[in-house]
Amino acid sequence: MKVIEKDTDELKLAKWWEPTDSNKILCTLCPRYCKIGEGQPGFCYIRQNHNGKLYTIGYGRPTGFAIDPVEKKPLNHFLPGTAILSFGTAGCNLGCKFCQNWSISKAKLDDFNALISSPEDVIMLAKRYSTPSIAYTYNDPTIFGEYVIDISKIARQEGINSVMVTAGYIDKDARKDVYKYIDAANVDLKGFTERFYNKLTFSHLTDVLDTLVWLKNETDIWFEITTLLIPDENDSPEEIKRESDWILENLGDSIPLHFTAFHPDFRMMDKPHTPAETLTTARNIALETGIKFVYVGNVHDLEGQTTYCPNCNTKLIKRDWHSVLSNKIVDSKCYKCKAVVPGIFN
Ligand code: SF4
Repeated sequence: MKVIEKDTDELKLAKWWEPTDSNKILCTLCPRYCKIGEGQPGFCYIRQNHNGKLYTIGYGRPTGFAIDPVEKKPLNHFLPGTAILSFGTAGCNLGCKFCQNWSISKAKLDDFNALISSPEDVIMLAKRYSTPSIAYTYNDPTIFGEYVIDISKIARQEGINSVMVTAGYIDKDARKDVYKYIDAANVDLKGFTERFYNKLTFSHLTDVLDTLVWLKNETDIWFEITTLLIPDENDSPEEIKRESDWILENLGDSIPLHFTAFHPDFRMMDKPHTPAETLTTARNIALETGIKFVYVGNVHDLEGQTTYCPNCNTKLIKRDWHSVLSNKIVDSKCYKCKAVVPGIFN
């Protein structure tokens, strides 16, 4: 794929790349490790080789902003009921056939008439709308890591949180840079077989598991996990059980896990919507395995969207879809038995 001629004076030089012997550039930002020829983009489109250097053409070019509830990311244990300024860019480093956001992730910047927004502009927007957090979301923010770093660094100074909504498909060294000023993340664990990752996302499960273990063991970042259940692809009780066992063993019992409903989209129009019973079955399997906070999403299910006290089982946060109906957590504790609820609540 050829890219449109660029005036490199206007472009942001990328981090995480090196030249190769074959006159190509090796991008080391994600485990795809694209070798990119002159005038060409990498798989994610927004990292491009111009005159032997790698540029990030998504830098400062959001495809649009929205104010979302933080529950939409989804994050249920991070400042519940608050608003979050959300944006993404064009492009993506995964190739999910079921992408639920494909009009953004598969777009080229020129298709999108992207905005021009400096990191300071993004901070100004968060302040104008009084959102306590900014989400890097919609496409995968890994691919605009330089922009994430510059925004989240200022956000940290200004007391604004930064949230990555990501597939977690990122190089081990690059993630230390990209997540330096990140406060929370939701990581998609898209399935629990290499077959699924390979065939339907063009990526690899092991790299994502590695990022999850790194987040748990090497950082203080609050994170939650989402699995979009697709009928007959990743929704078998056996696969859910193996995923739950792995989470319990490697991440513990307190990382919230969200099972969300798929709708037919992009290159996967032949599958039906996920039945609500499938989500409930998955939730029950994870709870029985020992994971304490398991939620369902993209459906109305008061039971499956409630946060219960991990000690006395009192209903603490009632939700409907992305709305918080009531919140009885006080100082990060159950109002009744005073047990600590894992998360960031104030
Ligand atoms: S970030 Fe983009 S260009 Fe770099 S390796 Fe990943 S897909 Fe390829």
